[in-house]
Amino acid sequence: MDASANLRDISSVDQILKTAPAAAAIECFGRIAATEAIRAILSETRDKVRQGQEVPSREEIAALAFSRLDANDRPMLRSVFNLTGTVLHTNLGRAILAEAAIDAAAAAMREAVALEFDLKNGKRGERDDHLRALICELTGAEDATVVNNNAAAVLLVLNSLAAGREAIVSRGELIEIGGAFRMPDIMERSGVRLVEVGTTNRTHARDYRDAVGPGTGVILKVHTSNYRIEGFTKEVGARELSGIARDKGVPLINDLGSGTLIDLIRFGLAHEPTVREAIGEGADVVTFSGDKLLGGPQAGFIVGRRTLIETINRNPMKRALRVDKIRLAALEATLKLYRDPERLGERLPVMRLLSRSQPEINAQAERLAPVMQHVLNNAFRVSVIRCESQIGSGALPLTTVQSAGLALTPVEGSGRMLAGLAAALRRLPIPVIGRIERGSLLLDLRCLEDEESFAAGIRRIALPVEEGFESEAFTFSAGAEKGNGS
Ligand SMILES: *Cc1c(COP(=O)(O)O)cnc(C)c1O
Repeated sequence: MDASANLRDISSVDQILKTAPAAAAIECFGRIAATEAIRAILSETRDKVRQGQEVPSREEIAALAFSRLDANDRPMLRSVFNLTGTVLHTNLGRAILAEAAIDAAAAAMREAVALEFDLKNGKRGERDDHLRALICELTGAEDATVVNNNAAAVLLVLNSLAAGREAIVSRGELIEIGGAFRMPDIMERSGVRLVEVGTTNRTHARDYRDAVGPGTGVILKVHTSNYRIEGFTKEVGARELSGIARDKGVPLINDLGSGTLIDLIRFGLAHEPTVREAIGEGADVVTFSGDKLLGGPQAGFIVGRRTLIETINRNPMKRALRVDKIRLAALEATLKLYRDPERLGERLPVMRLLSRSQPEINAQAERLAPVMQHVLNNAFRVSVIRCESQIGSGALPLTTVQSAGLALTPVEGSGRMLAGLAAALRRLPIPVIGRIERGSLLLDLRCLEDEESFAAGIRRIALPVEEGFESEAFTFSAGAEKGNGS
């Protein structure tokens, strides 16, 4: 039979719309979307029939339309299992939030809230009022405000306090923290004139003293959170620098980057300067992130001397950088957890994940290895390994925590097998993201809390058959996040 005769056998849109799968599509996605999807499938069907394919039934066409609509409806921002070994992975959304923060954010989304409304006197209130007292209590600062992220905090502080004037910074602190955030660039965009002092490895107190002049707006100290220079080095500490700033009558800004509100020694990690310490050392303004070690939503904190915070709040740029009610609610709930440091390890996911012990993770790896081996059959060897997790996002760059995981090694073959396996893991309903290192795909289990759904998920791994093998590059190769900041 010729193709044009077959084309006449294809059902019409109206006929297809009367089928059961089309009714389901209308129910789920609406009549307009369902009709459009059917039209699109019909047009593709005509092409295929012209090329000699059989005419599908109207139910088949409707079902195809339904599955296409269903696939398009899945969230683009997918949940994943972060088994990269980097707890605060910038590309995977950094900190996951505490339940209290999630509840608070959901409530703020559902209801009208007194965001800028003073319930005591019925007048207009300030959105910073909700967090100010709490931040000051936790950091010892006089005043505080919050903006979109720490990059915004640095931009706003410099622009408010030193636009058109000089900002003095050590050459050893002109860092890049991943992607587009380079300290010199953000300083330039804030309208300050960058004055570099010292050298890459050594900066002395006299370098700062000599540089300060009538045109100086601020001295900036940047916590070089994502790398360390070792050997013949000299850095002027914040306390000494604050003495110089005071003598010269210019404010000292300390960009802490991650910042933390508690001593991490409590969680078996190295000491990272706390915000309270930075304030205590005499910085006039301290900036830090909300979604790094603090464990909250994306935000940038600006804390310090009241007069300076007031100047910052008067800057019209503040309006463009402010945070919404959802994040304010989540931040408040996150910060309140710090009032009970003893239970932080249970309640705050960042601390809970960082403080999981190696033996506990190892036991989990032992439980999961046979499941994985069964799924991967004879194509890969599954072994339980010791590994080291890193904190990520530029916090404590040299500190790693003992962890455990699974190494999946191709029995024969090579990079192509590994890339194919990595791709198969990314295609799972909840994609699994690991890292490739020395010929194996490593899954660091430190951040695996929902073991049951992970085990159920990996049973659905569909290894590609040899000819359909994907050679797509693995997104998070070993080098991608290692040593880089955020
Ligand atoms: C991470 C970081 C920033 C940027 O913070 P975001 O919250 O990612 O905008 C700025 N300065 C330092 C030192 C950092 O480590």
